Amino acid sequence: MIKQQNFTPYRNKVSGAGLKIIPLGGLGEVGRNMTLFEIEGKILICDMGLRMPGEDMPGIDYIIPNINYLKPPHQNFGSGVKDRKKSILGIVFTHGHYDHIGAFPYLIDKIWHPNLEIYASSLTRGIILKRQKDFSNQPPLNINEVRNGSKIKLGPFKIEFFRQNHNIPDNLGLFIETPVGNILHTSDFKFDPTPINDLPTDFQKLKTIADRKILLLLSDSTGAEEENHSLSEKTIEKNLEEIFKKVQGRIIAATFASLINRIQQIITLSEKYGRKVIIEGYSMKTNVEISKALGYIKSKRGTIIKTKEIQNYPDSKITVLCTGAQGEGSAVLMRIATKEHRFIRLKKGDSIILSSSVIPGNERTVQNLKDDILRQGCRVFHYKIMDIHAGGHAQKEELKEMLRIISPKFFLPIHGQYSMLAAHSELAKETGISEKNVVVAENGQIISLSPQRIFVEKSRVPSNYVMVDGLGIGDVGEVVLRDRQMLAKDGMFVIVVVVDKQTGKVKGSPDIISRGFVYLRESKELLKDTRKRVIEIVHRATGSGGAVNWSYIKDEIRNKVGQFFYTRTQRRPMILPVVIEV
Ligand SMILES: [Zn+2]
Repeated sequence: MIKQQNFTPYRNKVSGAGLKIIPLGGLGEVGRNMTLFEIEGKILICDMGLRMPGEDMPGIDYIIPNINYLKPPHQNFGSGVKDRKKSILGIVFTHGHYDHIGAFPYLIDKIWHPNLEIYASSLTRGIILKRQKDFSNQPPLNINEVRNGSKIKLGPFKIEFFRQNHNIPDNLGLFIETPVGNILHTSDFKFDPTPINDLPTDFQKLKTIADRKILLLLSDSTGAEEENHSLSEKTIEKNLEEIFKKVQGRIIAATFASLINRIQQIITLSEKYGRKVIIEGYSMKTNVEISKALGYIKSKRGTIIKTKEIQNYPDSKITVLCTGAQGEGSAVLMRIATKEHRFIRLKKGDSIILSSSVIPGNERTVQNLKDDILRQGCRVFHYKIMDIHAGGHAQKEELKEMLRIISPKFFLPIHGQYSMLAAHSELAKETGISEKNVVVAENGQIISLSPQRIFVEKSRVPSNYVMVDGLGIGDVGEVVLRDRQMLAKDGMFVIVVVVDKQTGKVKGSPDIISRGFVYLRESKELLKDTRKRVIEIVHRATGSGGAVNWSYIKDEIRNKVGQFFYTRTQRRPMILPVVIEV
């Protein structure tokens, strides 16, 4: 369900001279990461991510952060509510995953101003700019490229970028010097001793940073409930290779379009086992193109072929790399499984690799997808059977190691469901950080930091969901979503009543149109009773001969018929009464 957060209006100016950290997304959820750092009225933004909708949000494409704190939607929003757009000095991106960059094109035109500085690593920048081409009418973008060791200064913030292992190359952590103290933001990370496409973690560098005294550590919590150490990408490659070794038919490997390292592994293995690779899915194709252009994905000439060429090769020589491991309705794997794909149909002997963990909320969809595939005589390999997907995220032992190396005074777990943040805070206490110095916060809260203390302020900033569907941003509110849920669950029922203006009598029999509620032909009795009730409601209201309140009549029809349907069918369709006076 939609999380409705009540917040005290944030017109009271964010108090004190200390540093405020305001998470607009990513705390209490997986995805939609966006954090503000505010000091002396100056704001630094870290990441602008999106989140995939849950199964209970029909027709929604993405959920993005609410930026009303930065840019109130209405001019007269209330006295004292500021347009903080001009106070934003810059945006820094940690890495190119959509849960860190995906909301950017939807939000940037609302906060852009000529002095806004944007920073990202080479690959992250490439992905953002390429995606930007799909959004016309956007302000011209100049994204500064940063790399391991780059230092920048934005007003009161001095930022130093450092390399962190993850499952996408070019991932950067942030060391931020502020007048209040030094802050370390880990980005998403894991300590991978044998990464693919990347160097192992530079522990010496981390120690040097820690020597400069860290007041506050913000660390990735996604893996905080997982025991031990995350798998190395090398181990995953070995397990994937087991599949390549024994499988004879086609391999269809589905993963996230942004898991560049996984894509590389599958290309490399395909080359080793003489398979050609077909890349399917717009975002997957785009990311491969950018990563190849920037040198982050390597493939031999002729390995990647066009989809149409699939018939020129035997099944044992084909790998299809595609999107859709989460069972997303419009992604390639789903279209293949439901026979809606233009070129590719599943057949006996195919092996499908689902190389991603299941994002909370998508379990049922993924289960249905697996069943669909198995029914068509194919094999499915997924992360529960084999370790063919490492979370890109540090697990308990690595998180503790990070805490020990950095040994911060204060700790704020970020990136993850509430339970993950809570688990991470326990780890912090285990490594010796005292309880009062650890804060588990949620989206929209204002975390106040001074050299002496950290605490959550009473007032909050808006952080509820902003939903994007094919048509617009934020125009799907909770009401629209509730309607969609209702329609999806119990269907709809339209009653058209024609009333004689002179007499107030219903003319003829009310028309009924219904979808997804009951099978009309087999519900004659129900419909007859419904018509009778509707006529009664109208006549009761018009009987006295005085002025007629039609909206009252419509409400009556909606309520009474609704109750009647519920007693008879236990369903609550959406009821739309239409009254026409003639
Ligand atoms: Zn990530």
